[in-house]
This record gives sequence, C-alpha cells and structure tokens, in this order.
Amino acid sequence: MEAVGTDTKHGRCCVCIEKNKICTRKCEFAAYFPNEMQGDYEAATKLFGTPNITRMMKLAPHEQKHLLASSILKEGVAWTDDNIGGGCGVIQKLRGEIKLHEDYLSDIRKKISEEKKELVLLSNPYI
Ligand SMILES: [Zn+2]
Repeated sequence: MEAVGTDTKHGRCCVCIEKNKICTRKCEFAAYFPNEMQGDYEAATKLFGTPNITRMMKLAPHEQKHLLASSILKEGVAWTDDNIGGGCGVIQKLRGEIKLHEDYLSDIRKKISEEKKELVLLSNPYI
C-alpha cells in the first residue's frame, strides 16, 4: 500500500509519517529522516519525542543537521538496545571489544616475535 500524500521518491519521511502530514519535495526533514530509517526514527521518537526532534533540527546550523540527525537516530537505537546504559553503554561495550582485540593482537605479536627469534637461532649454525 502506497503512503498517503507521498511526493518523494521513497515515500513520506519519518517526521511526516509521525505527524501524519503530506511530505513534499520541500520537506525540511526528508533528507535527514528518510522513510528507510523508520525503525531507527521510531526508537529516537521514544527517547526524544518528535516535537523535540523537530525543534533540535530547526535550531541546528544547516551544515550540522546531518550530524545531528545521525546522532539522534543512533541515540534512539542505543537506548533501545541498552535501556540502562544507552549511548554510554554502547561506548563501554565497544571499548571492551577493542581491549579484547588489542590483547589478542598483542599475544599474536609476542608469538611472532618469539618465532622470529627461534628462527634466527635455528638458521645460524655458529650459535
Ligand atoms: Zn517529510
């Protein structure tokens, strides 16, 4: 079923869907919250509410609106995925994963170094 009042290529933007408005080519939110982002936008709406999202977007400088929209969507997803830690929880989880990979990489480098030393010892008949 096609969305009512669609004037954009991929349907109404998330803000217009939420407000049950016609989304025109001149919609100021269509570029930042396209229809394809609806799941993330719904998560962000639970956290911020559409009136606050539209207010924040209107107050942001034009050159930073994409960054703000991305931040709003990511915060919504973060709080949906981790309703205790939110964005901070995501950062802590990623730091933990980075630490785990760094430790693994350190072990691998140590093993490579030991193998190289052994190889030098084995290839030098005068030692
Ligand atoms: Zn729209």
